[in-house]
Amino acid sequence: MMPSDVREILRERLASVRGRMAEAARRAGRDPSEVTLVAVSKTVSPSVAAIAHELGEADLGESRPQELWKKAAALPGVRWHLIGHLQRNKLDRTVPLVTLIHSVDSPRLHEALDAFGQARGTPIPILLEVNCSREEAKGGFAPADLLPLAGTLASRSGVSLRGLMTMAAYTADQGQVRATFAELRTLRDQLRQATGLPLPELSMGMSNDFEIAIEEGATLVRVGSTLFEGLDEG
Ligand SMILES: *Cc1c(COP(=O)(O)O)cnc(C)c1O
Repeated sequence: MMPSDVREILRERLASVRGRMAEAARRAGRDPSEVTLVAVSKTVSPSVAAIAHELGEADLGESRPQELWKKAAALPGVRWHLIGHLQRNKLDRTVPLVTLIHSVDSPRLHEALDAFGQARGTPIPILLEVNCSREEAKGGFAPADLLPLAGTLASRSGVSLRGLMTMAAYTADQGQVRATFAELRTLRDQLRQATGLPLPELSMGMSNDFEIAIEEGATLVRVGSTLFEGLDEG
């Protein structure tokens, strides 16, 4: 595929996704500007990711730290989001490159990030990943484990806890998907009460379910295949 074709397809897909996002926000009585599109570029080359950026997509997401390093070197102006598992031995190379880590999935990683942030003297913006769909293959904090941690979460000065992230089950049952997102919002509200932290962000919704997520309060949606499917030049 020619780069010019990729550009035209991406332009249309971005406009379509942004339009659907705005509609979903309005249906829920929300201001569309409250919701940020994180374009998940994990399946495409840096050159395709660069086209998305040139088309005005400021926020890109990657799930593997090594791939994020590679793309961030090629595309320094992007606001990078890490949405996949971060190994503790990769903190020092990853943290300086990212705007937000969505996928803090264990107390051990949270603690390591806190120590790292304290050492560098600037708190690291993070979200806690919560396994609201309760699927065994998924990582993250169990919903029931979150509130008991409120005191610890509020006292960590090396991280700036901005909110919560989740993934819904891959299912056609929209009611189940909606319940997952509603649960994350409720948990965020409870955690906000318990910690006194503002916790403004809810990262939820992917290609199949971002409209439902926005109706349930998402402030960050992570959309990959709907934007990038078939566009990799290899
Ligand atoms: C890959 C990925 C996405 C994007 O998924 P699509 O279904 O391709 O939109 C979102 N969030 C996470 C955590 C991912 O790993």
